[in-house]
Amino acid sequence: MPRRSEVVHAETSPPGHRDRSWLGSSLTRWLVLGNFLTVASLIGVAALLLWQMRTDAERRSVVNANSLVQVLGRDIARNVELYDLSLQAVVENIGRPGVAEATPELRQMILFDRAASAPGFAFLLLLDANGIIVSGSDHLVPKGLDRSETEYFRHFVAHSDDDSLHISPPTISRVSGERMIMLSRRLSNPDGSFAGVVVGGIKIDYLRSLFASVDAEHAGTVTLYGPAGIILMREPFDQSTIGASVADTPSYRRMIAMRDGSFVGPAMLGDGERRFTFARLGMEPLTLSIAVAPFAIYAEWQRQALSLGMVLLSLCGVTAGLTWLLRRELSRREQAEAKLLAANAHLAAQATTDALTGLGNRRRFDEALKQEWDRATRGGRPLSLILVDADCFKGFNDTYGHQRGDEALRLIAGSIRAAANRASDTVCRIGGEEFAVILPETDTTGAKIVAERIRAAVANWEMPHELNPHMVLTMSCGVASVPEVLAHNASALVAEADAALYAAKNAGRNQVRAAEPSKTALRLVS
Ligand code: GH3
Ligand code: MG
Ligand code: MG
Repeated sequence: MPRRSEVVHAETSPPGHRDRSWLGSSLTRWLVLGNFLTVASLIGVAALLLWQMRTDAERRSVVNANSLVQVLGRDIARNVELYDLSLQAVVENIGRPGVAEATPELRQMILFDRAASAPGFAFLLLLDANGIIVSGSDHLVPKGLDRSETEYFRHFVAHSDDDSLHISPPTISRVSGERMIMLSRRLSNPDGSFAGVVVGGIKIDYLRSLFASVDAEHAGTVTLYGPAGIILMREPFDQSTIGASVADTPSYRRMIAMRDGSFVGPAMLGDGERRFTFARLGMEPLTLSIAVAPFAIYAEWQRQALSLGMVLLSLCGVTAGLTWLLRRELSRREQAEAKLLAANAHLAAQATTDALTGLGNRRRFDEALKQEWDRATRGGRPLSLILVDADCFKGFNDTYGHQRGDEALRLIAGSIRAAANRASDTVCRIGGEEFAVILPETDTTGAKIVAERIRAAVANWEMPHELNPHMVLTMSCGVASVPEVLAHNASALVAEADAALYAAKNAGRNQVRAAEPSKTALRLVS
């Protein structure tokens, strides 16, 4: 069952009108809208700020990684260049006249002079065309060992025209037992034929110390790739990854194609995405890269975003709470105001309503008559007034009691209202058992019909009234209309109707009498 307020709302709302009562008055609506916009802008600004902070975090990470790649890459490239110079020195010196004839000590000095100064460079070996060690930078190097099965020797046998530096995958040296990356170059006879290979080993441990010496606060992995995507070194160090090839991974291919730069792609080892920042080292087939997982890049940013989000959420909560409180307070006031207005309207209606019959009272009659009189005279329109009086009503009260008298008055009121049924008609109780009906736009003929309807309706009830000559309750009516009667104001019209009523009473009651039309007025009408 709907509540009273809902029923009222349903009755008063125009069809198709959506229920927006929850928004309250326009002030409340503006308030809610204003606060909503404030909160929305706050969230918008915070989102923009967070987005900028995120972009900054990514840019910072790339800048850090790039500078680390540059510093470490320069170091590695310089070392490799230094080692290569040692190899090149051997290649150059071995062909010099007299070297072949020199004593083994002198030959050793000439050939491996520069190799001794290179840090992390383990030793140099000289292999003849059959892969047999003929000499080395170190006295401990066992001569006469067959190295024809090594990767570098087979490389130069297979690529007889390759006179560039060859970098081999990491291996364990059979000479020192240490993990090494072998660098080698081809030796040629004066006629250009293959004379053997000069090879040197860089200690992996030396590379490790080089990686570790770059004390940069980086997150992620630093990797040195050799030819064919072979991992030469990786920090944090993991033995199992050294020597593995990542040549087939999409990120490695993209990295080699770009030579240097930064991109986000799938991890080469492991799962997920990484941001790779990398550079090719000098002229060598070496690439150094730093790979950072997104969560590491954005870890700090996520913490900040979380704090900011919490603060923002609290602010929004407080704003929403305050808005709700304010809205409630305002709607309470509005309700109180509406109640007051309704009470005032009710009082005003009561002041012009007759309590017994619910019709307008004397005051209402005076107001309505003045209003209708003004309108009629302004527009030159007809206006009729019927005064209705219960016959011998004192006797009715005396016979049947005051209470029955009141009931009879209520019935009379209902009959009069039913008889004067136009929206513009006004029915009032102007005295104890006296009523008045104001009929705008109605001439004497029409008014007499209405009056007759009233009279007949009451008489037809045949309510017993033994002190009435007609033996039933009856009414007498006096009608006066302008312009048929000459009345200079509303009071004059009332006096004319009253005179007609008096005539009806005198003529025996239970009848309708109209005021005599004045001659001048008749001329006006005709
Ligand atoms: P007439 O036919 O000449 O009009 O005679 P009457 O008795 O109706 O006229 P009178 O003016 O002498 O009496 C009016 C009576 O109406 C007086 C009173 O008993 C009665 N009356 C007036 N107001 C009320 C009322 O509010 N309730 C009741 N029950 N009777 C009322
Ligand atoms: Mg009377
Ligand atoms: Mg009377």
